[in-house]
Amino acid sequence: MIYINGDYVSEKDAVVSIFDRGFLMADAVYEVTAVLDGKMVGFDGHWARLQRSLGELHLACPLTRTELLAIHRELIARNNLTHGGVYVQITRGNPGDRDYIIADMAPTIVLFTQDSPDPINDSDADKGWRVMTAPDLRWRRRDIKSVQLLYPSLVKTEAARQGFDDAWLIEDGAITEGTSNNAYIIKDGVIITRELSHDILHGVTRANLLAYAAERQMKVEIRPFTLTEAKDADEAFVTSASAYVMPVVSIDGHAIGDGKPGSHALNLRKIFIEESIKAAL
Ligand code: PLP
Repeated sequence: MIYINGDYVSEKDAVVSIFDRGFLMADAVYEVTAVLDGKMVGFDGHWARLQRSLGELHLACPLTRTELLAIHRELIARNNLTHGGVYVQITRGNPGDRDYIIADMAPTIVLFTQDSPDPINDSDADKGWRVMTAPDLRWRRRDIKSVQLLYPSLVKTEAARQGFDDAWLIEDGAITEGTSNNAYIIKDGVIITRELSHDILHGVTRANLLAYAAERQMKVEIRPFTLTEAKDADEAFVTSASAYVMPVVSIDGHAIGDGKPGSHALNLRKIFIEESIKAAL
């Protein structure tokens, strides 16, 4: 079942106009909230980021937090979702014609769910991801979670074609992030990840993981790191609502550490999942 503009309908009945600015101009923002054992992980972080993305595009949020939470819950129930995610997209709407100038219009709201394996027994985490690198050619407002995903999608497809699990993007000699995740390395027990700016998406998983690391007095350095540093790291990993904490075992075919998922990364994954279960809504 899909939620669209106030109604719960089947996939084939969920229809959006060809003049919708989400379709013609990527004038839309989205969120993906992880679902673990039927409950949502980090809902309030996603709600806050949705408000921020909408605000940056001067779009008013058409729903309250309570309303959006209720729709998420209803869709999880109607689709019998145990593990996976809820996708919400808000577009500026349908002005009835194609026009660069933005007029007042009613937004389009769509939500659907997607299944994924139980993260506690995810075989990907036991193997870790092999990533390649690519130049970061995305627009300069990556902090806005817009649906303008063509470049990351092209890069991720090329990575898959070459037998990689994902790609890390590089700008001015430093890693920005993965195609759909935040990137980290660990050197001498210190977790290193780039600072928040317009250059990366402000990951909800990142914020929560760094809070759990701080509670445990783990050492964290917030700064950019280069590809050379990454290749020389003891461990590497990525975070996102869909991958949780995923070890990275090689970059461009160069093994990180011993080429196996690192113990710190696996421990952080365990901590993240345990804390998420406790805090889930
Ligand atoms: N960076 C990018 C470019 C993303 O697309 C995503 C998630 O889709 C993330 C980072 C991770 O964000 P979150 O942890 O909120 O899922």
